[in-house]
Amino acid sequence: MGRPVPIGSAPPPERLPQFSPVSTLPTLEAAPLAIVVNFVRSGRATTRPELVATTGLSRKVVTQRVEQALALGLLEDGELAASSGGRQPRTLRFRAEAGHLYSAAIGASEFHAAIMDLSGAILASHHEDWGVEAGPEPTMQRVQSAFSALALKTGLGRPWAIGIGVPGPVEFATGRLVAPPIMPGWDGFGVRSWLREHYDAPVWVDNDVNLMALGEWTYGTPHDGRDMLFIKVGTGIGAGLVAGGRLLRGDRGAAGDIGHTHITDDPSAVCRCGRTGCLEAVASGWSMLEESMRRVEESPYLTKVLERTDRLTLGEIGAAAVTGDALALEMIDTRSRLVADVIANLVNFCNPGALVLGGGVLRTGPRFVDLVSSTVHARCIPLVTEHLTVRAASLDHREGVHGAGLLASSGLFATGPLTHWVESGSPLGHATTLQRLSAELA
Ligand SMILES: [Zn+2]
Repeated sequence: MGRPVPIGSAPPPERLPQFSPVSTLPTLEAAPLAIVVNFVRSGRATTRPELVATTGLSRKVVTQRVEQALALGLLEDGELAASSGGRQPRTLRFRAEAGHLYSAAIGASEFHAAIMDLSGAILASHHEDWGVEAGPEPTMQRVQSAFSALALKTGLGRPWAIGIGVPGPVEFATGRLVAPPIMPGWDGFGVRSWLREHYDAPVWVDNDVNLMALGEWTYGTPHDGRDMLFIKVGTGIGAGLVAGGRLLRGDRGAAGDIGHTHITDDPSAVCRCGRTGCLEAVASGWSMLEESMRRVEESPYLTKVLERTDRLTLGEIGAAAVTGDALALEMIDTRSRLVADVIANLVNFCNPGALVLGGGVLRTGPRFVDLVSSTVHARCIPLVTEHLTVRAASLDHREGVHGAGLLASSGLFATGPLTHWVESGSPLGHATTLQRLSAELA
């Protein structure tokens, strides 16, 4: 009998080392070149003397590799920097316009798509109401059409990399959805494989809440670099945690998937995942919309809305609450309390510096954030709440698309992949190898 193999220990096929005989191996100069580019890109060094001081590379190597990076178009000379005694050194700048990235954030009922430069600045973007229950093929085709329209608008050619978020559990190493509760027809669908078949670019896929957390932590305001717990309450409910500047994904990518935490024994709380008693069954956006339709006659405001349109939205429920509508207030308050209880436990557990609330629930107005904030402050221990900031997400529902761009650029500029392509000046043509390298790193 052989050694027992722990369940789930076998690596997915993409993580097995595969060595292509035709791949061009980087030279010895590639590693210092990658270091020089990344130090300037991240702002850790802005002049040649700073590169010598911070990288540990010799003055000669820095001079040679900077010249190479300038010739490749990855860096350029900037203004003269302040002198520290001798001659004023010239600053160096990373050329964010050398290439561009595609990013998309697919939610349960909408998606954002964007083309960004290499620094993550959005060059053009697109937003569309779209239900993922339409299935993977029609959804991916819509995203592809959006990318094509944005490419036409900006006049930009092939992307250097693609980052995408989806509203379900994603196995990070393979970009495959695993039993997503609110995405019928997507189980086992390879988001990365689909995009790799349509684009000659490396693709990185993550859960939408993880990318919202990453986008908000990096670009949101106020930015203080402290650990952040991001909670999304939209059609579904999820959490993303950035700790020590890194997104916590867990072993396979499912960390933070709190929507299907069991919180009630009420058998009537039937969830979309097929079980009963889940947090989403009683506190999510879809449960609120369902209840508002069921009890609409109790609300004169929502009854009027329904006479005008054929469906209610979270924004309409928020507008009703502002007018003092009893049903809207009751539905928001009940859910806020249920979600706040779970959030308070999480805050006690991970002691974030900032608790940020995002997703469609923000369209119901400030009430939700206020209620969660007071519950968390009442339930958590003083050391946890003393310096805790509780606030709404600050990027106007674009945290996810920013996070997807960050995911793509961090994949492209990770040391292994960058060392592989940097001497070409561009990753174009290296997609297969870069994807393999990043799978090994995952
Ligand atoms: Zn569930």
